[in-house]
Amino acid sequence: MEVVGGEGEFVECCYSSKVWSGRGRVRFGEGVGSVWWRNLNQIRSGVGLVDIGWLSDNIIWKVGDGRDTLFWVDPWLDGCPLARSFGRLYLLADNKLATVSEMFELGWGFGGEAWKWRRRLLVWEEGLLLECVERVITCILQVGTVDRWVWKLHTSQCYTVKSAYSFLTSIDTNQNEGFDSFLCLKAVPLKVNLFVWRLFLNILPTKDNLYGREVIDVTQLHCAALCGELEDRDHLFFRCEVYSRIWLLVSKWLGIDSVFNGNIGTHSTQFRGLGGFSKNSRTAFTIIWISVLFVVWKDRNNRIFQNKSVQLETLAEKVKLQMFWWLKSHYVLFDFDYPYWRLNPLCCLQAIV
Ligand SMILES: [Zn+2]
Repeated sequence: MEVVGGEGEFVECCYSSKVWSGRGRVRFGEGVGSVWWRNLNQIRSGVGLVDIGWLSDNIIWKVGDGRDTLFWVDPWLDGCPLARSFGRLYLLADNKLATVSEMFELGWGFGGEAWKWRRRLLVWEEGLLLECVERVITCILQVGTVDRWVWKLHTSQCYTVKSAYSFLTSIDTNQNEGFDSFLCLKAVPLKVNLFVWRLFLNILPTKDNLYGREVIDVTQLHCAALCGELEDRDHLFFRCEVYSRIWLLVSKWLGIDSVFNGNIGTHSTQFRGLGGFSKNSRTAFTIIWISVLFVVWKDRNNRIFQNKSVQLETLAEKVKLQMFWWLKSHYVLFDFDYPYWRLNPLCCLQAIV
């Protein structure tokens, strides 16, 4: 069966109950195709879950004799296709659809017959090839064993509903797990990464935490935005009727109409998925999400410690400017001036996703 998922994406497998234990090859498209296809993508992307990589993290493609595994295209080594790790070599490869066993039999050592190119390799490309050879040369194929999907959460290595359910119910109750997907976000300064880490662990000095440590008394618990409510993490960043307007201003700037959840896990999942569920898109929207949080936190501190308050519109402008510098300093392809970024954020983000 072949299902077209749009933009060249396809499923080349029998998508039945045997999909996780049988042979097959799956490639997912993003936000395109039929309702069925999009639902399938959402399951795979973990929409609504704290750990959005749960499915792809727990299925691995195990190579046996290498006859059903495409050497360049399938993620058979360390979970990443060689076509991605060695994009230059893939472009030059003569047979892009060779299987692992074909490459092995031809000889994949340095100078082996497996390496056929559309033109002679340049010196630096030879260096890449050496690196690639070092990666594959240690692989040992198992004659008589078929290549197959392996489900990591059950001893039988086959998918069971019960194993998936118990895994999901255990991670969904642990909100701190959500921070894993934010670790090492290089486009964001270290101090801001630390801020997000403390936010997820709920150890920022918000007023409820300070009260818990007996630093302040019960009369000082009110939200700095003067909304009349008590300040805790979820209130300050996601529920406060004053600060929550900044989410609306920023999403309006992005041309997206959305109502957001009032808790850190669901809010982050929802916001980071606004641009689609590809890894790069999630990263870009995570940077926006963090930028808003950091601006809110700084403004809240200014209100408390310096008795200064500014309009929400000014804060939204700070989010835009802060993001502009973060992106500019990290992404070479983000080659825009500030006025253009301010007017065309999605267009500029396209350059980095
Ligand atoms: Zn408030």
